[in-house]
Amino acid sequence: METKNCRKCGVVLMDENRAPYLSINQCICHNCVRDYARQWLARRREKLGILPKKKLTLEEHKEKQKVRRLEYRKTHPPDLARVRAYHQGIREEVIAAYGGVCANTECGETRSEILTIDHINGGGTQHRILLSGKTPSGKSRMGGSRFYSWLRKNGFPKDNFRLLCYNCNCCLGRRGSFPSPRRSVTNG
Ligand SMILES: [Zn+2]
Ligand SMILES: [Zn+2]
Repeated sequence: METKNCRKCGVVLMDENRAPYLSINQCICHNCVRDYARQWLARRREKLGILPKKKLTLEEHKEKQKVRRLEYRKTHPPDLARVRAYHQGIREEVIAAYGGVCANTECGETRSEILTIDHINGGGTQHRILLSGKTPSGKSRMGGSRFYSWLRKNGFPKDNFRLLCYNCNCCLGRRGSFPSPRRSVTNG
């Protein structure tokens, strides 16, 4: 088969370097088309008096982003109800993935609003700090909703996490064991 060369740089035209948006008879490679477009744009800018953009350093860029974000927030206040619903949805998903019931079989609590994720071997705070760093006051940057997102993103790891209700979790933390079985309610 006859080979064709780019009429600008002379490179042999293959399927990989041919400009796909041009007809096969236009013998010019992709790179040359791109360079030409760049030159055209530069000339055009010069003509219109548009100065080339100054390259920002990473710090400057971040600062600019921050200002822009604040400006945006002024005109677009966050829809808190929606944000809350979003995080609520993730929380529900996580709780369902962990079985939706308190891990203490004596308890059997299923109301999702009072179920929490428990670190089986303890060290929950340390673990959160490890994942996200800590604030100047020494607290974890990872709050509840972030933690639930993390669990979801990591495929709901079961090795060190289980579901406990607040009661069982607090009792376990305070005296090292689950609450005593609920006394049945009797009259008198
Ligand atoms: Zn070329
Ligand atoms: Zn419980």
